[in-house]
Amino acid sequence: MSSAAPRYDHYIDGSLVGGTSYTENRNPSNTGDLVGLYAKGGAAEADAAIEAAARAFPGWAATPIAERAAVLHRISAGITAREGDLADMLAREEGKTLAESVGEVRRAAATFAYYAGEVLSARGSVYASLSSPATIETVHRPVGVVGIITPWNFPIAIPAWKTAPALAYGNTVVLKPAELTPGTSWLMAEIIHGSGCPDGVFNFVMGAGREIGVRLCESPDVQAITFTGSSAVGRTVAAAAIAHGMKKVQLELGGKNPLIVMDDADLKIAVDAAMDGAFGSTGQRCTASSRLIVHDAVHDQFVEALVQRMRGLTVGDARAAGTTMGPVVSESQLEQDLEYIEIARSEGGQLAFGGERVEAETPGYYLQPTLFTHTENHWRINQEEVFGPVATVIRVHDYAEALRLADAVEYGLSASIITGSLARARDFSARCRAGILAVNRSPAGTDLHVPFGGNKASSYGSREQGTAARDFFTTSSTVYTYAGEA
Ligand code: NAD
Repeated sequence: MSSAAPRYDHYIDGSLVGGTSYTENRNPSNTGDLVGLYAKGGAAEADAAIEAAARAFPGWAATPIAERAAVLHRISAGITAREGDLADMLAREEGKTLAESVGEVRRAAATFAYYAGEVLSARGSVYASLSSPATIETVHRPVGVVGIITPWNFPIAIPAWKTAPALAYGNTVVLKPAELTPGTSWLMAEIIHGSGCPDGVFNFVMGAGREIGVRLCESPDVQAITFTGSSAVGRTVAAAAIAHGMKKVQLELGGKNPLIVMDDADLKIAVDAAMDGAFGSTGQRCTASSRLIVHDAVHDQFVEALVQRMRGLTVGDARAAGTTMGPVVSESQLEQDLEYIEIARSEGGQLAFGGERVEAETPGYYLQPTLFTHTENHWRINQEEVFGPVATVIRVHDYAEALRLADAVEYGLSASIITGSLARARDFSARCRAGILAVNRSPAGTDLHVPFGGNKASSYGSREQGTAARDFFTTSSTVYTYAGEA
């Protein structure tokens, strides 16, 4: 371990707190590049952060909305002012291209600005009583201490879209980032510190999910858990959070998302959507279109055009000019991707493109964008989330079969259809059981002000983002007031 590598500590109650041990954060584009050493906390650090958040809660909840909004505006401005540093860190630790990283950082800044405004429009309702002269009102209050547990694939956008509404509505926060990519959210924590956010309102503790994450779920002083990650871990998070104090729980989980290409599709739109959906962010998106369900009539033409476009992708160092697809995030993710490539082969899929590691100038986790054709929907490659740049083609004979197969997975996060038929588009929107539906575009890259979430094994609890976030980050009380005689 290099002693020259910078160390990054936890942020608890307004101060940096050193770790008893530190974890290496390495660049997946060049494993010789040590990004830094990040503190690894345990129960003691988690408890200290939870206690700080609990102490800070009454004061922050009572802080006038305009002051809370001003803090959020300053965080947004702070992120914008450091856009270059943040995007560089994101590309360096996660492997997204610089263009993708800049986009993610801008979204994080916009999210804080959005909630600074959104909180001003939050309101309750007034009702007439059915049988008495009382006035009935609903009031929305902050929930309390919110535990935020995030994945590695959006290391600033997801922490931002959970933290911003949590703080805006008056909650206090303990954020635990993913072990693989703590660097970008550490910088966000530094910006929050510099924004004048009072001590203890936002706390940041790094370490293993089974220690910090479990502690957050089990602590009686945490009132809500918002989690994004795999469906397997999400199930344990929900079980623990409910077993320990019936906490509010919000889960955003995996996907195995279909993109249907119909016989009347504009093939340019179809190929653009498939390229973005399957290989954008190296395929490491919960909304990735990993199953391409293609009508017989356009199958060969679509596959040929897609392969042609895949050939044009430049796989390389995420921060190098000209790179259009960065590496996968880690050695274990690369092994998982290669294992699924073997599974697809052994199940009978025909490799149309890719399937191999890419040798680059630096040692990194580079993989070719990969496409299998002639696959069956019930195969493992089409039922399990790969979470890499690996897509399959499933050939179908008509719309009814396409719609049936689109839904025939345990997940229901996103789904797309490429069609010239308004009737099919409307039918698809009405019947496909995914939370994010797209017609004639990729389902990835949703706007920050609209609800986000899935169905079936992809989500649990209320939707994220936009005004929908109010449901999770506030709790309502119904108040009867009888004023008496004047
Ligand atoms: P993961 O489930 O391995 O980890 C997510 C977070 O949970 C990490 O911070 C981890 O430390 C923590 N964790 C691990 N074990 C825990 C435990 N027992 N208790 C509490 N916390 C624990 O997921 P990942 O590999 O970081 O991310 C990839 C997954 O995230 C994919 O399945 C992807 O589809 C999903 N994802 C979903 C969305 C969405 O919005 N639906 C968005 C991004 C990623």
